[in-house]
Amino acid sequence: MVLADLGRKINTALHELTKAPVIDEKVLDAILKEICGALLMADVNIKLVGRLRENVKKAVNINDIGGGVNKKRIIEKAVMDELFDLVDAHTDVYKPTKRKSSIFLMVGLQGAGKTTTCTKLASYYQRKGWKTALVCADTFRAGAFDQLKQNATKAKIPYYGSYTEADPVAIALEGVEKFKADKFEIIIVDTSGRHKQEAELFEEMKQISAAVQPDSTIFVMDGTIGQAAESQAKAFKEAADFGSIIMTKMDGHAKGGGAISAVAATQSPIVFIGTGEHLHDLERFEPKPFIRKMLGMGDMRELVEKVQDMGLGQNKNLMENIKQGQYSLRDMYEQFQQISKMGPLSKLMGAIPGMPADLMAGSEEEGSKRIKRMMCIMDSMNDKELDSDAKIFLENRTRIVRVARGSGTSVHEVEEILNQYQKFAEMVKTMGGKQGLLANMPTDP
Ligand code: GDP
Repeated sequence: MVLADLGRKINTALHELTKAPVIDEKVLDAILKEICGALLMADVNIKLVGRLRENVKKAVNINDIGGGVNKKRIIEKAVMDELFDLVDAHTDVYKPTKRKSSIFLMVGLQGAGKTTTCTKLASYYQRKGWKTALVCADTFRAGAFDQLKQNATKAKIPYYGSYTEADPVAIALEGVEKFKADKFEIIIVDTSGRHKQEAELFEEMKQISAAVQPDSTIFVMDGTIGQAAESQAKAFKEAADFGSIIMTKMDGHAKGGGAISAVAATQSPIVFIGTGEHLHDLERFEPKPFIRKMLGMGDMRELVEKVQDMGLGQNKNLMENIKQGQYSLRDMYEQFQQISKMGPLSKLMGAIPGMPADLMAGSEEEGSKRIKRMMCIMDSMNDKELDSDAKIFLENRTRIVRVARGSGTSVHEVEEILNQYQKFAEMVKTMGGKQGLLANMPTDP
């Protein structure tokens, strides 16, 4: 079952709470049965599912809580808390600092996505303003250096490797020393993998680790292996004592939920997930946003909280509209306007569901420019258009041409904005609408 299906099943079960005339033990049991069944089908370990069920029942204590809405909210909260817990390793992760070079050592089995992930990670930090470099210490797989070189060149990241040196420890050390001397802030070392866990691989990892003294060893793991993730993570933990995990191939695969919960059970924090083969397909993993996204809630609640935190919630109409699932082009424009005043942009934009990731791709500055350009185009829309849900543009395409001309841009760019608006509005409608979980949130902090 893909994660979205799991989310949908859990949502449907929770929705039963709204339909049931009285919420009693029987209703709660039926809902928990649905939720637990869905989790088991998504390959979550049976013991963890059992614990979730028990904990929700304990937290809710159905006979001691008050009436309808209250009961519904308490149950929803208890289920959400347990789902968060299921994917949370409750451990701190290493945070690089600009004061010194941080060395990341990447380990994992062949084919897990290690080399791809090295460049994704380097690019992630580079976009955030870190001076980043890559070292290829994979001498086992033919073509590994070429692959890293190609990826690194595309992403404009300095790299180090050798076609002639056969000793991975020597290459790792040389590369790290070189980049350290050049004051690189994040140095990512790719190591070789093997098809299966074997002594030779673990020995090589240990030697490289002893030589380069990593600040953080990251285990790259294939997210499609389901519950087997737990034993694999345990074996690597023993051999390489990694501090965190990046789980790859999480682009909608059936066993994703199983692997994540299995790994969390080993108290090993997942820091990123790979969601595709491209450079930008790497997302920071945090338990709460992950579960919310899985449940199709985007980060709407978090967005509303952030907006309120930052004082943007003063625009009561906008907040009310979002909660009602109503959202016009003008609402999007006003949000952009408010957001650009607040900075840093990416912090807030990242929380907006439906906001295409490429909108904030590149540096903070590039992201801001893109938003300003969109606002500049929207400045050429009239009041009727701004207050609409964009359909009038599709009914009368001369409007698109007029806006493009007025803003000195192209029809394609205007269409792009309308597309992005539509994605965004769709999300707001499904998540923030009357049935959505935001419906009962207060407007004021
Ligand atoms: P390595 O042997 O561990 O270094 O693995 P590679 O980096 O060569 O990746 C193996 C394959 O997995 C390649 O075809 C990658 O494009 C693919 N891959 C890596 N990460 C992801 C991911 O997050 N999603 C998908 N769909 N494919 C991935």
